[in-house]
Parts: sequence; structure tokens; C-alpha cells
Amino acid sequence: MTIKENYKNVVSELSKDIVLVAVSKTKPVEDIKEIYDAGCREFGENKVQELIEKYEELPKDISWHLIGHLQRNKVKYLINKVKLIHSLDSVRLLQEIEKQFSKSNVIANTLIQINIGREESKTGIMLEHLDELLQEVEKCEYVKVRGIMATIPKGDEKSCRKYFSDMKNIFDNLKEKKLKNVSMEYLSIGMSGDYKYAIEEGSNMVRIGSALFGKRNYDLN
Ligand SMILES: *Cc1c(COP(=O)(O)O)cnc(C)c1O
Repeated sequence: MTIKENYKNVVSELSKDIVLVAVSKTKPVEDIKEIYDAGCREFGENKVQELIEKYEELPKDISWHLIGHLQRNKVKYLINKVKLIHSLDSVRLLQEIEKQFSKSNVIANTLIQINIGREESKTGIMLEHLDELLQEVEKCEYVKVRGIMATIPKGDEKSCRKYFSDMKNIFDNLKEKKLKNVSMEYLSIGMSGDYKYAIEEGSNMVRIGSALFGKRNYDLN
């Protein structure tokens, strides 16, 4: 199947209220154009450099999502380039985003990435540090938190569903808290192998790469 056919198949399965972020990391702009032409406008990259390069080359009506770990020294390059940063996971990163975006008077829209599986190999904040981060978010002027994101440990259906429903509970709890600068609009969970489970557990934003573009040659993330 072609990339365009993959895209149409996936889209046909998603209800309208689910945002599909097409994860184009490592894939050339020609591949991206195929599903751009089929109507996709939301694309996700895990590296700042690659996102910027593709931003420059592709139509400006694309909304870019930074889904990978964000180093503080790269924050400034994202100003006016991204719709959503999915990987806010520390107070230090928060403060750098606040500082850099304030210089340009631009609002940064973010998701807090949670290390829900407590995996040492993964980034994302541990749950016990979430409140501290949220307290700092309330002091910001330029950073808005619009939801939460996670990548879950590999596992069977039961395990996937457990992590996804844990995320949904956190999402619902935060929604009720009505914190300053925090609105729970996006629950970003679900990838190629498990997005159907994620949606059933409450996801409204799925990040799908290989099911659209085919296997990546190097799978760094
Ligand atoms: C690569 C990646 C995805 C997409 O993974 P697939 O299994 O190819 O769908 C989603 N989220 C993040 C954070 C990624 O790095």
C-alpha cells in the first residue's frame, strides 16, 4: 500500500474528534507531501533540527508537533515554528521555554510528558514531581499546558490499556483542578501498534508513524 492509502485507511477509522499527528521523523519531504496532499496538516518530529528543516521546506499551513525530548539549548529555535511541544518534563525546561518565548512575546503551547511506566530509559516526568512542575506553570506568563502525553512500556493489550487508563485518570483529575495556565484539551497517547486501545481508553490525540510511512530505517526513538 502507498503512504496515501495508509493515511486514508487510518483516517477512516478515527472519529472526527481525534487528532492524528503523522510522525514523519526520518522520512523525506516527498513522503510527507503524499499525505499532505491527502489532507493531513499535523506532523510530528522528535528532533528540533529535523523539524526546522522540514518546516522550511514544506507548506506553511502545516502544524508541527515536537514529540521528542527537548534540550534547553534548542528551545529558542522552536519559536513560531511549532503548534505544540509534547515533551515538557522538568522545571528547568519550563523556565527556559518561558524565558525564550517571552523574549519574542509568543505563547508556548505544551503538553506535560509523563513517564507513566517509570522507565529509566525514557524521558518524561515522574508522577511524584508533577505537582511541583504544575506549581511553576501557574507562575508563567508565556507557557500554557494544554494536556498530557506519554509513551508507554512495550507490553500486551492488558498492559497497554492499564497505562492508558492511568493517563486518562490523571487527565481527568487535572481537568477538575482548574489550575492557572493549565487546560486539559489533549490526551496524547497511542502510536502505530496500540492507538486503537488508546482511543478506547480516552485518547484524543494519536501519534502515528510507521503505520502511515512504513518502517523507519533507524529507530532511534
Ligand atoms: C516515533 C514516535 C511515535 C510514532 O511511533 P510509531 O510506532 O512509528 O507509530 C510516536 N511518539 C513518539 C514520541 C515517537 O518518538
